[in-house]
Amino acid sequence: KKLSAAELKQATLDQIKATNPTLNSFIAVNEAATVPTEISDQVLAGIPLAIKDNILTKELKTTAASKMLANFQSVYESTVTTKLLKAGMVNIGKTNMDEFAMGSSSETSYFGAVKNPWDTNKVPGGSSGGSAAAVAAGQVLAALGTDTGGSVRQPAAFNGVFGIKPTYGRVSRWGVIAFSSSLDQVGVLSRHVADSAQILQTMSGYDEHDSTSSATDVPDFVGDLKADVRGMKIAVPAEFMGSGVDGGVKAEVQKAIDLLVQQGAQVDEVHLPHTKYSVPAYYIIASSEASSNLQRYDGIRYGYRASDAHNLEEVYVKSRTQGFGPEVQRRIMLGTFALSAGYFDAYFTKAAQVRTLLIQEFDKIFADYDLIVGPTTPTTAFDLNSRIDDPVVMYMNDILTIPANLAGLPAASVPVGLSAGMPVGVQLIARPFAEQTIFNAAQVLE
Ligand code: GLN
Repeated sequence: KKLSAAELKQATLDQIKATNPTLNSFIAVNEAATVPTEISDQVLAGIPLAIKDNILTKELKTTAASKMLANFQSVYESTVTTKLLKAGMVNIGKTNMDEFAMGSSSETSYFGAVKNPWDTNKVPGGSSGGSAAAVAAGQVLAALGTDTGGSVRQPAAFNGVFGIKPTYGRVSRWGVIAFSSSLDQVGVLSRHVADSAQILQTMSGYDEHDSTSSATDVPDFVGDLKADVRGMKIAVPAEFMGSGVDGGVKAEVQKAIDLLVQQGAQVDEVHLPHTKYSVPAYYIIASSEASSNLQRYDGIRYGYRASDAHNLEEVYVKSRTQGFGPEVQRRIMLGTFALSAGYFDAYFTKAAQVRTLLIQEFDKIFADYDLIVGPTTPTTAFDLNSRIDDPVVMYMNDILTIPANLAGLPAASVPVGLSAGMPVGVQLIARPFAEQTIFNAAQVLE
């Protein structure tokens, strides 16, 4: 039976209402969502889309899961959602996340932690944990996330769904709440590879509102989609399969690599020696940019203002102290320190140098190989509350996803199997603007 767009919207709302009290994957649900009334031949018409709550929408508030923006109503629509709504998609709700996308577990949200639908004692990953949980639980077919250091791929891996972060510049960041502007990209999470291909194709392209968006042609990802890796040259960095990676995860990743070989790919081991410096470099760069981007939340122009402030200094200090949670404050302090006059060269410049070296290492590999393959994460989803008090342990969890952000490369996580009952993701990283290579290899693994 073919559902009308209105029936599909209602069925989706019912499903969300039944499961959200357990999962807490949505911050807001759009009962009054606009659905296309005319029957349209656009393939995405009438399909409900869950949108991470750091992407500005005119329907529903945009909170970034922060007390700072808990009542923030955007007056404009982001470029990515404008394009998807124009294609007929329905903004069905805004998904829960780590506050300002800072985190790897979706536990730093002002609106409470998200639960992993595979095991509600475990985290769904983060920061796009609500989007991943929503797709995994069948609340929606697809969701938007953002990925600064792994926030689309890591939750995709933890929830057994597909998630792709496109090449830096492929997608406009206009109307996306800035965390680290040289790293942030909007990505897609979905049950099926083809759905992400369709959505990414629709939301990609140059945007005059974002000077870092690229004028590179957007391919027909869906038209060119084929489950085919014959002749593909695949590199597996030894550093991605080291002792820090859980044995159960490695076993599933190895099975996926074996399948790619069986299907005609050629696989070699390579080296990406700067991997171990990527986490410290990332946390300097991302926190520095965040400390600058978050200056705008001053209690005057946007969001929360402390009611007990009696002069300008107090408006700033109290609004920011009360409006930002502990992880966001930690990043602001870290970034402000790294950018301060006496420490800039020792920290920020050094991190930027590491970033350049990492880019060069990737360039060298991509001179000979089409795709890099490895685990998305060192472990499967961890227990709720188990890492939230130890930021360094939490940060190390991003070691395998961060390199692609630092180098601006497209990368995806494909669900490949289970380890002790929890999903494992395989990460695919390609040359700049070679998302098609990722989609095609992912089709083989799906
Ligand atoms: N976990 C990383 C961080 O906390 C990545 C976040 C992201 O990609 N938005 O910064």
